[in-house]
Amino acid sequence: MLITGARLRDRDGLWDVEIAGERISAIAPAADDTGDDGAHPRDVVQRVDPGGQVYPADGRLVTAQFVENHIHLDYANTAGQPRPNASGTLFEGIQIWAERKAAGLNNPDQIKADALAAARSAASHGVGVIRTHVDVTDPTFAAFEALTELREEIRPWCQLQLVAFPQNGMIAYPGGAELMERALQQGADVVGGIPHLEPTREDGVDSLRRIFDLAEKYDALVDVHCDEIDDAGSRFVEVMAAEATKRGMQGRVTISHAVAMAYYDPGYLARLLPQLVAAGVGFAVCPNENLHLQGRDFGGPAPRGVAPVRTLTEWGIPVAFCQDSMVDPWYPVGDGDPLRILDSGLHVSHMLTAEYLARCLDFISTNPARNLGLANEHGIEVGRTANVLVLDAADDETAVRTKADVLLSVHRGREVFRREPARTTWAL
Ligand SMILES: [Zn+2]
Repeated sequence: MLITGARLRDRDGLWDVEIAGERISAIAPAADDTGDDGAHPRDVVQRVDPGGQVYPADGRLVTAQFVENHIHLDYANTAGQPRPNASGTLFEGIQIWAERKAAGLNNPDQIKADALAAARSAASHGVGVIRTHVDVTDPTFAAFEALTELREEIRPWCQLQLVAFPQNGMIAYPGGAELMERALQQGADVVGGIPHLEPTREDGVDSLRRIFDLAEKYDALVDVHCDEIDDAGSRFVEVMAAEATKRGMQGRVTISHAVAMAYYDPGYLARLLPQLVAAGVGFAVCPNENLHLQGRDFGGPAPRGVAPVRTLTEWGIPVAFCQDSMVDPWYPVGDGDPLRILDSGLHVSHMLTAEYLARCLDFISTNPARNLGLANEHGIEVGRTANVLVLDAADDETAVRTKADVLLSVHRGREVFRREPARTTWAL
């Protein structure tokens, strides 16, 4: 396939992007580019399309497929079953999920069908890689087995990473640690956790040490729901940083949510930030979900309950913006559209400045790719995996401002879908 007349994020002018097999095979000045600056005149370069298929981008932005760093596909489309979340809080959501499992409502076929619908929805918005947490605190292992099958079935159009996630606690849930290890033995890619849900601070710390032990034993990545609570005293982020540093696991650890960081006082934060840099951790922040769940019953003004993304970014720490939920006990809406999450994330983080808008797609592509261990595979560069989008926009800022349509999506060199630009006919 040959995508002609592409605008790229890191280069001036227009370019032709050639795909051969699963990889980007060439990037050259556009053959029909008269050049923004006249540097690449027409007919200078002639190329043959290896697949016999040409897609004219006509000056639109060609960028890597979006990467969803944090979602729960096994929960998707279950809102209201067995009951709605009346308080709208995180902990009522966890309670409802436990009730659902106890009532025997989780069956693998239904989970797989609901998860497939959610993955399809995300893919329709340009997502090509998804890291999904999967609840393993369930002796039936219904969700894990369903998503293991799904990982294989959707491989042609979406790469799935599975996180072994102890929703009801690795220690709090009887046998939780054993179920976690079983998931790693059965092919989980990432070790998850939820230390702020464990019975005591000490149990939370203990759970984190066991999580890092499992990651070392099974050569897995780490991604923990960490300090997702409106409590300035919840300080498991520092434990994750210390463990990552001690074990030399820089670049392999993601801290999800980190809500409590929004409540940390400046003195503590000033000590923590350099520790995070030294630990080489990344963050997965879910602005829509945590704006919905956090800061309740505080009176006014209500806190935001979203990690300090701008500060983390200024320190050079990679942050991904993520969906988290789609129509489940925690969050009643959501369609998996990363541009929608990006819009919210930039607002709540006070990042609608020219500097950040110019690079804002990093939050849903480059940064999550790095967190997923895919930094060397991701991006529009020769030799990288051909996970490619054509957006109906010329640059990052326009893409988020207009919530640009994805006009073409390519995964591992194969076209997933194409979409016609919407047309409006004005009558007046
Ligand atoms: Zn989550």
